[in-house]
Amino acid sequence: MLEDDGRLTDSVRPRTLGEFIGQEDLKGQLEIFLAAARNRGESLDHVILHGQAGLGKTTLANILSVEMGAGIKSTAGPVIMRPGDLAGLLTNLDPGDVLFIDEIHRLPPQVEEILYPAMEEFRLDVMVGQGPGSRSVRLELPRFTLVGATTRVGMLTSPLRDRFGIQLKLDYYGAPELKSIVARAAGLLNVPLTDGGAMEIARRSRGTPRLAGNHLNRARDYAEVKGAGTVDREAADGALTLLGIDGMGLNRIDIRLLKSLCRDFGGGPVGLEALAATLGESSETLAEVYEPYLVQEGFVTRTRRGRLATLKAWGHLGLTPPAPPA
Ligand code: ADP
Repeated sequence: MLEDDGRLTDSVRPRTLGEFIGQEDLKGQLEIFLAAARNRGESLDHVILHGQAGLGKTTLANILSVEMGAGIKSTAGPVIMRPGDLAGLLTNLDPGDVLFIDEIHRLPPQVEEILYPAMEEFRLDVMVGQGPGSRSVRLELPRFTLVGATTRVGMLTSPLRDRFGIQLKLDYYGAPELKSIVARAAGLLNVPLTDGGAMEIARRSRGTPRLAGNHLNRARDYAEVKGAGTVDREAADGALTLLGIDGMGLNRIDIRLLKSLCRDFGGGPVGLEALAATLGESSETLAEVYEPYLVQEGFVTRTRRGRLATLKAWGHLGLTPPAPPA
């Protein structure tokens, strides 16, 4: 459910910073850094983008290349298994190019090591040959901008993190921004959408543009089959309810998580591992995908002893919290 639908996203992906809705602080910073680099005729400093999946990291990496008038080559941490894989990418860059590495926290350590001199001094030391006859050859690289994206900035090693001159965090979007994103996408795709329909989708998309886009697609299906073709509040509500998304925008797993926390563990505190085990999910998925939004929306708090359900969570489930110990 949290995966990219893939079908319609490319045609609605914002191409310039001006088309990118929300994240005003981040955009304000980037505008300055981009203008300064352009004025000096230099490539942009290396950029790390961190934030939850679907908030726009890949979109921004592409925007940076467009704004710099440069090309982009994209890859992902888990795909680059050996130093040679990265060397191949680096030596194919044109001057000024953006190299985008998604999930950069998953680069193997031996690959990361050859990235350091490439980022700092635009050079690459590669070993040629094997055994006693092997020697190191130094290659000069064109100036490039590394744009790394990660959902787990805490998992980056500090030598890697410190080599990014520009470090930017993407936050969840507010409903008004998501509403604009939905309205913009509907306009580009010629989907009839009412104000109420846009608001309903925006409110129930977990602060995430990718989900808002997916929900618009499903609401359009619903409106075409069950309604008169216009995505209004009723069509949006019908589609989202069918997808198991409740009135607050929580999905089935969010609700199972809260129920387990309240019913099985008396509201906590409970460790993430125990919670994950009862839900049949990995603790990483809970920590990376589900928990951040529940924390941000005040359903769950993180304490040193574990996760705690808040009164808001109990209330949302229609359950009565246990009386505090006297
Ligand atoms: P990430 O790389 O962080 O997982 P993406 O950049 O792939 O996220 O964005 C997911 C989808 O959301 C894309 O289809 C993109 O068009 C849309 N999107 C993301 N951020 C915005 C934004 N600020 N304005 C409009 N659309 C956005």
